[in-house]
Parts: sequence; C-alpha cells; structure tokens
Amino acid sequence: MHSIRANVGSSVPISVRHVDRGAWLSVNGTRELGVSTLWQFTDSEFCECNVTDFLAEGFAEIGVDGDSVEARLAGRCIQCGSEEITPWLTLGRVIGAADREFYPVDQDAVQDLSSMKKRHE
Ligand SMILES: [Zn+2]
Repeated sequence: MHSIRANVGSSVPISVRHVDRGAWLSVNGTRELGVSTLWQFTDSEFCECNVTDFLAEGFAEIGVDGDSVEARLAGRCIQCGSEEITPWLTLGRVIGAADREFYPVDQDAVQDLSSMKKRHE
C-alpha cells in the first residue's frame, strides 16, 4: 500500500524576512514572531549548558526548508551568559496550500539540534 502526496503547496512560495531591524519575523507579509523570546535547545555547540536557555535579541539569518521556517538567532544564554548566534532553529511551519498560515513551534519545548545540524552541514 502506498499513498500519493499531492504537492499542491509548492506553487505558492513562502516569503520570510525580518523587519524592524531584525526585531520581527515576517512570513508572507505578516509579522508573526518577535524577538525577546526564550528558546531552549540541546545538542548544539552554543555553550556548555546541558540545555541552553536562550534569550533572542535579533534574527541573524532566516530561511525556509520545505514548509518549515528556520532561523539563526542572535542573543545569549541566560544560564551562563554566552553571547553568540545560534545554529539553525525551527521557528514554525507554514501550513495550508492556499492560505499559507504560519504556526509557531511550541516554545516551551526543548529543541534537539543534532538533527538540524546534519541537515545544514
Ligand atoms: Zn549556557
């Protein structure tokens, strides 16, 4: 048994950019996500902490991979004070072929960055 996946979404491109000097992430012209957000992630080389408690201060790079919106954020770990740009984090997903709505990831969830690292290397 196999299923056929209709690739209807590919005709509508996702446009992501940062606005207001990197303070906001805009997806398809709508401001979706501001900085000053806490992100938790593991398995990065960002700092020595088991779980990095990262306070974002700006978007350094943003990109789209399939339907997921990803970014590298500038900011610091509030546990140890390391200040740097993060590896790629998943910020959310754009769902729906026609309306392309943005759904942010659960920000209380800790992101495991080992799989992201492999994809971007
Ligand atoms: Zn740290």
